[in-house]
Amino acid sequence: MLLRWFKQHGRHDLPWRQTDNPYHIYVSEIMLQQTQVERVLQKYEPFLQKFPTLQSLRMASDEELLAQWSGLGYYRRALAMKKVAELVDTLPKNIQELQKLPGIGKYTAHAIASFAFNQSVPVVDVNIERVLRRFFALTGSQKEIWQKASEFLDKTSPKEHNLALMDLGSLVCVQNPKCENCPLQKSCKGQNEPQTYWSKGKREHERLDLHYALFIKDKKIALTYSKGSMYKGMLLLPEAKKKEKLLGTFKHNYTKYAITVYCYAEEVEGDFIWMDLAKARNAHLPTLVKKALKFYDDFSKFF
Ligand code: SF4
Repeated sequence: MLLRWFKQHGRHDLPWRQTDNPYHIYVSEIMLQQTQVERVLQKYEPFLQKFPTLQSLRMASDEELLAQWSGLGYYRRALAMKKVAELVDTLPKNIQELQKLPGIGKYTAHAIASFAFNQSVPVVDVNIERVLRRFFALTGSQKEIWQKASEFLDKTSPKEHNLALMDLGSLVCVQNPKCENCPLQKSCKGQNEPQTYWSKGKREHERLDLHYALFIKDKKIALTYSKGSMYKGMLLLPEAKKKEKLLGTFKHNYTKYAITVYCYAEEVEGDFIWMDLAKARNAHLPTLVKKALKFYDDFSKFF
């Protein structure tokens, strides 16, 4: 029933479903972590045109790589892919070997093994977890879900089975499930109280305040490479220390964060990248920096 439903209703048109190239599938899986499918659809093919192989990824500068990744957020994912490209020429088939590589956790290793190498292994992402919790009426740990996924796996068509569960979770067994359209309805133990087994609402954005210094000298702006995990490797404004001359604030959502940015006119000292202001407006800088540049006109009032 499940595979028949998948044949008819599955998302077969997704470009990463039309390849068994392990590197391409790996790229799609990394992009899809914490990023909506629609956004990944815009970035996946241009990324592969620019970096069609692990070897080409290895040769890329961080700047080129991050420019190509721009819009997907969580830049450390891209940097981890480059590290993988520096370590291996081809992706290993073995799940344990895959999990030794930077940025590849249990889910990604299993997804590559299943979708690229057609191995008979379970895959559990958030959509599959929701289906399994409801179908088997499970309230236990992730370990229990993986165990159940392994027992439930259709060993004759493991890849299609995993993809079918994934699509069922994203199209039918959604937050408010459409059980009347579900191929598993007859045997589903949780259909009468689906929220008991999966009630995670939309994830709230975490609130975060960031304080940046805007300092412009000779029409050049001071920038610095981010060392934190957020925006890692990208150019940002320097952190404000004195926080005395507030230019303004703005809201900015980035991945799981609802950020309030406080922008100060503040002289900075130390090693900075000085970028021509006109160039900065067109450069591949995080949107948050571009938004801060709008305070440029007010800056001269303070200096
Ligand atoms: S019957 Fe309803 S609750 Fe059960 S798996 Fe299908 S959509 Fe989810």
